[in-house]
Amino acid sequence: MNLQNSSQEIDDVVLKTVNLAKYYNLKNGFFGKVQTLKAVNGVHLSLKTAQTLAIVGESGSGKSTLARMITLIERPTLGQLFLQGQDVSNPNRSTLKQFRPFVQMIFQNPYGSLNPRHKIGNLLAEPLKINTPLKLSERREKVITMLGKVGLRPEHAQRYPHMFSGGQRQRIAIARALMLNPKIVVADEPVSALDVSVRAQVLNLMASLQQELKLSYIFISHDLTVVKHIADSVAVLYLGKIVEHGTKDQIFSGALHPYTHALLASTPSVDNPKQSGRIVLKGEMPSPLAPPPGCTFHKRCPYATDICTKMIPELRPVNGHQVSCHHAEKFVQTGLK
Ligand code: SF4
Repeated sequence: MNLQNSSQEIDDVVLKTVNLAKYYNLKNGFFGKVQTLKAVNGVHLSLKTAQTLAIVGESGSGKSTLARMITLIERPTLGQLFLQGQDVSNPNRSTLKQFRPFVQMIFQNPYGSLNPRHKIGNLLAEPLKINTPLKLSERREKVITMLGKVGLRPEHAQRYPHMFSGGQRQRIAIARALMLNPKIVVADEPVSALDVSVRAQVLNLMASLQQELKLSYIFISHDLTVVKHIADSVAVLYLGKIVEHGTKDQIFSGALHPYTHALLASTPSVDNPKQSGRIVLKGEMPSPLAPPPGCTFHKRCPYATDICTKMIPELRPVNGHQVSCHHAEKFVQTGLK
C-alpha cells in the first residue's frame, strides 16, 4: 500500500481495502481432508466521506463476510483494511477500541438485534455506557436527541421493541448504530425485511442522516431497485471477487459483465434501456470450496469461450469502470444480447 497519498485524499477516503481476503479451513469428518473455503478472495474497494457504496451479489457471494471484516468483527486472512488511512487489518486491543465506534452495522432483522427485554432508552444508551465516560443525564439527553433524528418521540424511550412496527424498529436500530457518532455504517440488507410501503421511508431517512451527519454507507443488498435508489457506486461480487465496479450510472446504464447484466435483467423494475435482450442466470452459484477454473462464472455464462475456461480474467478498466471479463471490450461494441 502506497501511503504517499495527499492528506486531502486520506481525509476524504474513509475506507480502503487492498486485496482483502477471508479463508476458512474446513475439515470433512474427523479424518477428512482440510479444504479451504475462500469466502472473500482479493477485494479492492474504497469509500469516500458521505458516499454510498453498494455491494451486490447473490447469496453466497461473500457480501456478509466482507461486511464482518469491515466492521472489525472478523480479521482478514490476507490483504489490508484501512480506516481513515490507518491500517486496521490486524488490530491490537487499543486500535480495536479506537476504531470500533468508527464503523457500525445495521442488520436485516431489527428485531433480532434489539434485546426484547430492554426498553428502547436503555438499548440506545448502552453503547454510550460501555464506550464513553458520559454521565446518566448526558446519556439520556443524547438518547432523546437521537430518537428525534430518526423520527421517533421522547416517550418512545420508555417502550419495549415489541411495541413498535417493523419500520419503527429499523429506525431504532439505525439510532443505536449512530449513538457513537460513526463515520461509516455498514447496512446489511437493511430494508429487505420491511413492507414495500415503509422501505422508501427508511431509505429516505438513511439519505437525510447521511447528509446531516456526513456518513459513509456500505450498503449490502441483493435488491437492485433499492440500490438504484441509494447508491453512488456499485461493486458486484461473485464467488468472493469483484467482477464489476463503477458509478451507479455506469453499472445501471452500461454494465459490461454478463453476471451484472443478468442481475439487472432479473430485476424487472430496473429500467435499463441501453441493454436489449435478457440473460437468464442458469444454475446455482458454484461452491466456493471448488470454484471452476478460469472465469468462475463460465459455467453460467452464455458468452463463455475457450479462454474463459482456462484464464482468470483480471479486474481492469474498460469504458471508464472496472470489469473482470475477457470479452468486455467486445461488449462495449456489440452490447450484451
Ligand atoms: Fe463470461 Fe468469459 Fe466474461 Fe467470464 S470471462 S463473464 S465466462 S465472457
